[in-house]
Amino acid sequence: MIISYKYPIFPDEATQQKLAEALDACRWLYNRLLQELNEAKEKGIKLTTYDTQNMIPVLKLENPKLNLVYSKVLQMVNYTLWSNIKGLSASKKNGRKIGRLRFKGYGWYKTMYYNQSGFKLDQDHGCLHLSKIGDIKIKMHRKVQGCIKAILIKREGRQWFAIVQADQEPETLPATGKSVGIDVGLKSFAVDTDGNSVENPRFAEKVATKVKNIQRRLSRAMKGSNNREKFKEKLNKVHERINNQRLDFLHKLSRHYVNNYDIICVEDLDVKGLKEKGYNKGTHRNIHDASWSKFIFMLSYKAESAGRKLIKVDPRNTTQRCSTCGSIVRKELSDRIHECPYCGFSCDRDYNASMNILIAGMEQPVVPIESKPLHHISVMQVLAMKWEALPSRVG
Ligand SMILES: [Zn+2]
Repeated sequence: MIISYKYPIFPDEATQQKLAEALDACRWLYNRLLQELNEAKEKGIKLTTYDTQNMIPVLKLENPKLNLVYSKVLQMVNYTLWSNIKGLSASKKNGRKIGRLRFKGYGWYKTMYYNQSGFKLDQDHGCLHLSKIGDIKIKMHRKVQGCIKAILIKREGRQWFAIVQADQEPETLPATGKSVGIDVGLKSFAVDTDGNSVENPRFAEKVATKVKNIQRRLSRAMKGSNNREKFKEKLNKVHERINNQRLDFLHKLSRHYVNNYDIICVEDLDVKGLKEKGYNKGTHRNIHDASWSKFIFMLSYKAESAGRKLIKVDPRNTTQRCSTCGSIVRKELSDRIHECPYCGFSCDRDYNASMNILIAGMEQPVVPIESKPLHHISVMQVLAMKWEALPSRVG
């Protein structure tokens, strides 16, 4: 399986200039190929990915700056364009309202893709060599395992990163003989069948006032002024920090479950009506939505790489059903306790759901269970979890 590692890189001034120029040449190519596609479409001509790839040598005559970029990187620009087109038609099929593919404005092309060749990584000395760019210092907090397939160079604000993609043999973990059901939600981020209730991180909410302040000052700063750039940079930094904290939390929590259980059962969120999860409109819904999906995605690849099993179950009635007798007990969003009038079983609403998820995943019959108090696990506790430096995919 392909695992990605993300490392900060530190190009010197001259190299940064080269990288910026190369990115802008890529952007020019992207826009130019998109233009060719649009024009062909208007004429009723259908181009293929090979047609546009074959235009690259001719376009090098039109814009000699393309010669500053490693040839395979240019081919990957073409590849990116086509995969964006595919992504667009896929979301069209899903009924989402979307426009056409847009041209990339200055500074909006941020990634260079070195696929298979054009790079050399010296892991012992922390040096990355890129064709047509030169040597760049790379800070590797952990070594890449397996065979390196590709390197992406990415600009994020003023920082540069290398994302190293390596093909790795899965490392199976020893069996634990344990299985778990996990219910994700808004009140607690996760409640599991072992009675753990994991606090929902609110990293973004915690700095909301700070973000608003910066945004207000940004909107007042004059366009093109130094101040404006300063506030923009500040805002980027805050967002980046929130994002990193969230990823750290999700990596550690998913690692916890994969290390401790052979079989992990979760709801299939693709089919879940998110209403049941306790939404009000506008309550950072997208953030939570994305965090759950990312959590399950991390569980799935970590499980795969460790030889564990992740089972996604049909989410219908996981909240409403009684996990002890199987009866449907209707609840409102505000009902935090499951109280079954048929068998008398009473427990936390989300704990009941996690039991149902485990029962469905293991295809077990419903059996009487004991109600127990939940252990509260704080975000800080999750962040303090330490694991062997197992590789994690960049989320
Ligand atoms: Zn019952």
